Amino acid sequence: MLSYRHAFHAGNPADVLKHVVVVRCLAYLNQKEKPYLVVDTHAGAGRYRLDDASAQKTGEYQQGIARLWHRQDLPEALRGYVQLVKEINSSDELTQYPGSPWLIRTLIREQDRAIFYELHSKDHALLKRHLERKPQIITRCEDGLTGVIALMPPNERRGLVLMDPSYEVKEDYQQVVSVLEKAHRRFATGTFLVWYPVVDRERISAMERAVKRTGIRNIKQFEFSTCPDFPGRGMSASGMFVVNPPWTLEQEMQQILPYLVDVMAPDQGSFRYKTLVAE
Ligand code: SAM
Repeated sequence: MLSYRHAFHAGNPADVLKHVVVVRCLAYLNQKEKPYLVVDTHAGAGRYRLDDASAQKTGEYQQGIARLWHRQDLPEALRGYVQLVKEINSSDELTQYPGSPWLIRTLIREQDRAIFYELHSKDHALLKRHLERKPQIITRCEDGLTGVIALMPPNERRGLVLMDPSYEVKEDYQQVVSVLEKAHRRFATGTFLVWYPVVDRERISAMERAVKRTGIRNIKQFEFSTCPDFPGRGMSASGMFVVNPPWTLEQEMQQILPYLVDVMAPDQGSFRYKTLVAE
């Protein structure tokens, strides 16, 4: 039984980091006419109201997207993402936030395809409703970690896979790495994004070691903390492993990460990025 609902967390600093990376990677894929496939293994509901009870209860978006909403000094690499959030809001007021499926749906072109997996039946029903019908989009109420392997390699031979588990169960940390390894074995040139929360630093260090042990090459890691790591429950930071990143991504993140720290967590925040495995 899944209890995680992303509606409580939509638009928080971790979503901002993840979604900026997704938008930058799709912008890069869009530079060539050739079609591609996007697979979102943990799609969520697709879009969220920030003025409803769930988002208001945690108020997490206040430290995330709300801090970017009226900024006039956004770095170039952040502007496209913020513009997409503006598009989903019909007025100057921030009341809605796009999930990864909405961003993907908006950025893919006629020749591209997207497949979304969401296991929670209620969120899957919302997802179907939120993604206006586009013939090249499929949603599945199935396990995305099993589903993605069978889809590799895509016929298009170009593609992006986003793996964004809720890490409700501790096995997710190992399983996502094992799926990454299997999917990459079938589609070595694909771009794979794996999001992770930092709740227990040792768990993430173990995950980094596990990712390295897969033998996959060309992996970058980007992380953004809103406070120093602390023991007990709660997320101090979140990060992304990016396999086969666009060559432009590191330079863009060099602008984006310090800016996010400045506007979202100027006193206690920090960032790091590194080449986890070279090309
Ligand atoms: N990717 C979304 C976004 O950025 O807007 C947020 C996804 S949320 C962090 C994780 C989602 O994965 C939850 O909605 C949860 O119900 C769903 N989920 C959990 N396990 C799953 C699985 N094995 N396959 C597909 N969906 C799963």
